[in-house]
Amino acid sequence: MSRSARVNQVILIILDDVRAEHLFKWMKEGKLPNIAQLADNGVSCKNTVTSFPSVTLPCYADIITGSNSGYFPKEGSGVPNYHWIDRTIPSSVKKKPPLIRNYSERRDVLKINKDIGKNVKTIFEQAGDGNFLSATSFLYRGSTFTTSKEFKPELILKRIEDIYNNPKELFSNKEVPKVSVGYVPHTDDLMHKKGFDHPDYINLVIRCDEFIGSLIKTLKETGYYEDTAIAITTDHGNYKAPNIFDLEPFFKEKGLKPYNPIKGSGDFDANLGGVGFFNFRGDSWFHHPTVNQMKEYNTSEIGATKMNLFEILWDIPGIELMYYKDDNNNAEKGIIHLERRDLKINKISRGRIEYSGYGKHQKTKYVFDDDDLFGYVNSEKSCTLLDNKSHTINEWIEATYQTNFINLIDQLPRHFKNPRSCDIMVSNTGLYNYNYEHGHTKGTSPFSHDIASQKSMFVPLIIGGSLEIPKMELEVCKTTDIVPTLLDLLGKEPHSSVLGESVLN
Ligand SMILES: [Zn+2]
Repeated sequence: MSRSARVNQVILIILDDVRAEHLFKWMKEGKLPNIAQLADNGVSCKNTVTSFPSVTLPCYADIITGSNSGYFPKEGSGVPNYHWIDRTIPSSVKKKPPLIRNYSERRDVLKINKDIGKNVKTIFEQAGDGNFLSATSFLYRGSTFTTSKEFKPELILKRIEDIYNNPKELFSNKEVPKVSVGYVPHTDDLMHKKGFDHPDYINLVIRCDEFIGSLIKTLKETGYYEDTAIAITTDHGNYKAPNIFDLEPFFKEKGLKPYNPIKGSGDFDANLGGVGFFNFRGDSWFHHPTVNQMKEYNTSEIGATKMNLFEILWDIPGIELMYYKDDNNNAEKGIIHLERRDLKINKISRGRIEYSGYGKHQKTKYVFDDDDLFGYVNSEKSCTLLDNKSHTINEWIEATYQTNFINLIDQLPRHFKNPRSCDIMVSNTGLYNYNYEHGHTKGTSPFSHDIASQKSMFVPLIIGGSLEIPKMELEVCKTTDIVPTLLDLLGKEPHSSVLGESVLN
């Protein structure tokens, strides 16, 4: 071990789509004895704040890099969302229309390794020399060995266990991996299909606890347990929307045609759970539209009158919030426009976020015209930041984690700065799930995750194992603190792009 290192190895386990509240409840009920034991003797936090939007990407990439979306030619990760349109104009003469990146497509998911860009580094790339193992982590850049998608969740964590039993199977120097990342996607699949309250979903989390128990046993038998840290987290929580709504006929009726990336035709591209991300044509599909172009939008229908897209999107049932960027924004300075509709009286309130700086130096100021859009005035903590001054990510998290709009003021500029951002983001408050992707309603599930509420934004964090890990319960932290904490345990400095800091300090 180097002088300041407290452990030789770290194992990071990410279960997809488990709410902090649920994991800690099942631990308390004795359903997850192995995770509970790690938590009892190590670090635990019930209010670990993930990124917004609380969807697998960007959240997963932000855990693995310790960074957030941003103006990626200069800073931050290039991944603003699960779906995005690349507006970069190709240098080739044959200009194919811009592609739609959709990480639920098999052909797209591994492209994340390139999409995150060169200005951020994965935990494998930040941990110095050593062997690195990715057990189905689709973001594996910098790992020595990676396994592809496993159909059985037990095989994923078994893969890590096997390497501790027999490191020479994969690594010629016979050393166990310094960093192992194990990712279980199956929990997310069951959550969407059956829900967080379904026995099949709960039983899968219980089985994951058993695999973790088996891994702990092997670490003890092979003598590695005492110098290994095991971290357990999830990428986001979840919620159940009481209403679903089919948007396919809605857009037809409005006369808006979905974008076709093969032909380059159509008027809009969108994906919506409870939060919706809309892309529109600017001067071409390679250009983001200006605010005025969206207010007087020319559709592809010949002879059609111009449309005000903002007015059309307000007609989507349940939509209460709308966010879009100012035309004059750049990476270091800009304005995000905010609107909230009172559904009862159909009155729209307006505000804005002013941002400056980037990465960990980004500061944001929230101002509103008449009414506070997010209810921050109602809490003693959050209203302290309504002081017409700019604040850091940690200040926003600390002040807003007990509200329904956690850290939104910091996160929206990081999304909209990214050249791959959407043009208009809309949101409801968890009352509707639209299940809409690129022209099609993809199902009738009421279960979703994406909004800025506690159910969706709070993930569990547990770090246990070696006695070198202090026993501490944290009130609040963020998922970008995980990588710097694990690097701290390994005696390593995080890369300059890392937003978070070690929770051990
Ligand atoms: Zn996920």
